[in-house]
Amino acid sequence: MTDFLSRARPGVQHLAPYQPGKPIEELQREFGLARVVKLASNENPLGPSPAALAALKAALQADPAELGRYPDGNGYVLKEAIRARFGWAHERILLGNGSNDVLELVARAFLGEGDDAIYAQHAFAVYPLAVQATGARGIEVPARNHGHDLPAMAAAVTPATKVIFLANPNNPTGTWFERADFEAFMAAVPANVVVVLDEAYCEFVDDAQALSGFDVLDRYPNLIVSRTLAKAYGLASLRVGYAVAGADLIGILNRVRQPFNVNSLALAAAAAAVADDDFVARSRALNAAGRRQWLDGLAALGLRAIPSRGNFLCVDMGQPAGPLFQALLREGVIVRPVANYGLPDHLRISIGLAEENDFALAALARVLAAAGQGAAVAEGAS
Ligand SMILES: *Cc1c(COP(=O)(O)O)cnc(C)c1O
Repeated sequence: MTDFLSRARPGVQHLAPYQPGKPIEELQREFGLARVVKLASNENPLGPSPAALAALKAALQADPAELGRYPDGNGYVLKEAIRARFGWAHERILLGNGSNDVLELVARAFLGEGDDAIYAQHAFAVYPLAVQATGARGIEVPARNHGHDLPAMAAAVTPATKVIFLANPNNPTGTWFERADFEAFMAAVPANVVVVLDEAYCEFVDDAQALSGFDVLDRYPNLIVSRTLAKAYGLASLRVGYAVAGADLIGILNRVRQPFNVNSLALAAAAAAVADDDFVARSRALNAAGRRQWLDGLAALGLRAIPSRGNFLCVDMGQPAGPLFQALLREGVIVRPVANYGLPDHLRISIGLAEENDFALAALARVLAAAGQGAAVAEGAS
């Protein structure tokens, strides 16, 4: 029998597959549960914007035979919507099958054996996956207060460094950095090192002073800003994301992009979603209220979360979180263990609808009580 693993690229041999959140139906089957609340993948609990849904239906109804044709490989309608909303010329926009695709394309275009890429400890799991698969070396820089230590990341640059991945806010911690710190970082990083600023959660940030990649993009020819339609825009299932950078960088990424990486329904829905500011505002407000609800509920249980600007909280359970994750599953609540991120005592919990948050908080209280934390928790909260 051939050992195919030994035939795989060295970088691939040591990879573990990305672990997605458990699907709702799988849990219902496993435990025979009537109600399951999934707060595990940072999805928008409102689902897609009504405008996106209408565009999707219109695209299907207008001419169903169109589904038999390849989509527009240039994604004109979506690039035009992004241009209209944010002002970027089409040549500065790269469309991706989710922003995950964008991250992979950056790795594929710039990294190989002998190259280094830098990312932070506790940063999004796709960075090491994408980097290591190319044969490049991933340099993980220790976090500071669970967030990116930007000065240490800049200091880690060597002549072998080709790419640096930053997440602002970061997943799974929810941590962020300020504009001045980012500017100091960019000033310290050589201009030939590509910096990816992953803004998957930027729509949830409610602070006019916050760093926005789009505001600073024109100052840095080595900067790629990546965004997604999967989180605030509620289109996780359709797989659309995009990057904005200089036309030269976008041209390079387009060389390694598969020709039809974004499907026609996703293009139509995303184009409508990008224009729907009201929906994004509604999602942001719902998230802010839900986050307060969670922080209050957690405090009552004697628990604390890492300060977060995302649509999720990374909660310190004060004990190994694996058994609590399992116990929550039996209660019909799916959250995300983050031991694979070096956070074995934390659970990442996505903010849901108010009633979903209530359901999950009540389940968490029962699970903690059963874990023998009841008395200690009650004391801690009083
Ligand atoms: C969810 C997420 C993405 C990718 O999402 P897509 O669904 O592929 O667009 C990228 N970066 C971070 C930090 C994320 O959490």
